[in-house]
Amino acid sequence: MTTNTESSTEIESKPEGGPAADAPAPTPAVAPAPATRPYRAVCFDLDGTLLPLDLDVFLQRYFSALGQVAACSGADPAAFKAGMDAGIRAMTTHDDGCSNDQAFWRHFFAEVDPGACDWNAAFSAFYERSFGEIGADVVPDPAAARAVETLRAKGYTLALTTMPMFPAEGVKWRLNWAGVDADAFARITAYDNSTATKPRAIYYAENLAALGVDGKDVLMVGNNTVEDLSFMRLGADAFLVTDYLLNPSGMDVNAVRHGTLAEFADWVETLPTCENPAVDVRRGLIGREESQAVLVANERAAQKDGSVRP
Ligand SMILES: [Mg+2]
Repeated sequence: MTTNTESSTEIESKPEGGPAADAPAPTPAVAPAPATRPYRAVCFDLDGTLLPLDLDVFLQRYFSALGQVAACSGADPAAFKAGMDAGIRAMTTHDDGCSNDQAFWRHFFAEVDPGACDWNAAFSAFYERSFGEIGADVVPDPAAARAVETLRAKGYTLALTTMPMFPAEGVKWRLNWAGVDADAFARITAYDNSTATKPRAIYYAENLAALGVDGKDVLMVGNNTVEDLSFMRLGADAFLVTDYLLNPSGMDVNAVRHGTLAEFADWVETLPTCENPAVDVRRGLIGREESQAVLVANERAAQKDGSVRP
C-alpha cells in the first residue's frame, strides 16, 4: 500500500535534493518563457509542487505513524518493516501490468502473516485518521489554489499525476493540506489505478491514454527534473517549479521553463482560454496493451518533433 510520493524512490535510492553541485542554478528574476502551443490538459505533481513539503520530515512522520499500524496489528515489527520495504520496492519495479496496489500486497504478504489482523481495516483506519495528522501543520502556498483555479476557470482539463504509491485517501489528505480542491482534477493517480511509478514512461503513457490526448497536448507541472520531466519524452511541455526543486540528474534547468509556484500562478494568467480541452477522461486503471501503444506512438512523435529529452 502505501508510501509516499516521489519518496519511496527516495527511500530506496535517495536522490539528492536540489541541484547537483555542478548544475547551473535556475536563473532568478526572469519571467518564465511564454507558452508556445495550445494545451488540452495540464498535469500536476503534488509533493514539492502544489504541496510545500519537507520530504525528510514528512517521511519520518509517515513511517512513525505507520508504526502504529504495526503495533496495533500484532504482527512482528521486523516482518512488518520487511513487508513494507518489499511492497514499496515492488511498486517501483514491477512490470507485469497489474496495479501498484496488487504488487504491494503480494510482496507485503510474502513477509507478513495475512491473518495477523484485518489489514484492510487497519490501513483504512490509518488513512482515514492518522495520516491526516502528519500534515496538520503544513502551511499551504496560496499560489497552488490560485494556479489550479485559474486553469479550471479557463477550461483546461486537469490531472493530478502524483507518484502513484498511495491509496486515494492519502492523496486527498495531501491535496487538503495544499489547500487545493480535489474536484478540480478529472483524474488523480493512486496506487490502485496505476501500473507503474514515476519516472517510467509507461506511467505517463497510461495517463495520456486516460486523458485521450497526445503528449504534445499536455503541460506537466512538477518539481523533479527526473520524475516529472520524464513526461517530456512523450512530447509533453513542462513547467519546472523551483521552490522545492529536486534535480537528481543535475540538468541545466535553464533549458526548461521554470519558476516559483507563485510565478507559475502568474504565468497561467497569461494562457488563453482552452479551446479544446480533453474530454471523457477515465479515472480508473488503463490496460497495459493500450498504454504501451500510446507510449510507442508518442515517443516516436516526440523524437520526430525533436522534443526535449531530459
Ligand atoms: Mg514532487
